Amino acid sequence: MNSIHSCYIHIPFCSSICSYCDFCKLLYNDKWVNEYLNSLEKEINFRYKNELIQTLYIGGGTPSCLSINQLEKLFNIIKRIDLSSDYEFTIEVNVNDITEEKLILFKKNKVNRISVGIETVNNKFMPFLNRFCNKNDVLRKIELIRKYFDNFNIDLMYAFPNQTIDEVLSDLSFVVNLRPKHISIYSLIIEEHTRIFIDKVTPIDEDLESRMYYKIVEYLKFYGFNHYEISNFALNGYESKHNMVYWNNEKYYGFGLGASGYIDKCRYTNTKNISKYNECKYDYLSEEIDFKLDMEYEMILGLRKINGVSKKEFFNKFLSSIEDNFDIINLVKNKMLIDDGEYIYIPEDKLYISNSILVNFIGGSNSE
Ligand code: SF4
Repeated sequence: MNSIHSCYIHIPFCSSICSYCDFCKLLYNDKWVNEYLNSLEKEINFRYKNELIQTLYIGGGTPSCLSINQLEKLFNIIKRIDLSSDYEFTIEVNVNDITEEKLILFKKNKVNRISVGIETVNNKFMPFLNRFCNKNDVLRKIELIRKYFDNFNIDLMYAFPNQTIDEVLSDLSFVVNLRPKHISIYSLIIEEHTRIFIDKVTPIDEDLESRMYYKIVEYLKFYGFNHYEISNFALNGYESKHNMVYWNNEKYYGFGLGASGYIDKCRYTNTKNISKYNECKYDYLSEEIDFKLDMEYEMILGLRKINGVSKKEFFNKFLSSIEDNFDIINLVKNKMLIDDGEYIYIPEDKLYISNSILVNFIGGSNSE
């Protein structure tokens, strides 16, 4: 599919910085936000070509840490984006920032999906993550969200040093009882340039982490969640349409500091330097996507989906089969991939090591 029907908008400000964070973020500063919003408007005007947009996602950072006035300004800028009738419009929020006034403002401005960052409700790990919330507060805020929005996601994390499987399941049980439509759960990764990297935190044992992963999958399936991507679970019909655009290797705009997009034949990442961004010098990285690279992305992103890549859809898009372009015979023989005739996918017991399977598709296309 060539047309663009998705937009990601990055709001890089946060009220405090989490110890594990390697996203593009800045500590909230009132003056910077206002200047940033002016620059964001310029970038949208520069890039956006008035396509009808089906999925719009405001992420961060923490978009909800903006004041009401700043959020109003943001929504005024976004009004310029033309939404289709069946749109999905998500905004990320931190549970501590949620107020009824902000929720009403979101609703008024067409938001129809909320993504709530909780990560853990276990006090034991909050100082380590430098993220704090109170269980009663979470209960209260989620009730408030439910008053205005039926569709909400909760983000969780696991694999903290000294965490037990029971502690992971306890966080999960609390979250399932909040009755979200969608849950994203990622393991803690110790990325360079983060507090925990500088503090030389050691990751938990890999075997324990894989057991945690499979317990999570089992637990959420038991409660009726469809495991549709390696780290994502949804009640039927509530899969994230926006994230599916990424995993289906479709085009999308990325607006904002450090945002990534895929337009025309180019994947780009904007500068992470706010001064440059404010001077409209957006470019940081860009990768030209030729036919061969497009096929590689189709496999690497598509195999993140539990259903994998449709052989027919691949053929219709590239007029050539997966087998003719990638040497998958050995991967299938070694049970790293399953080929059921219609789809190629990673078997459930290998999802935990999916990265080691996906690397086989990097530079793996046979075509000239
Ligand atoms: S709230 Fe999100 S973006 Fe902000 S510091 Fe924490 S993890 Fe990073």
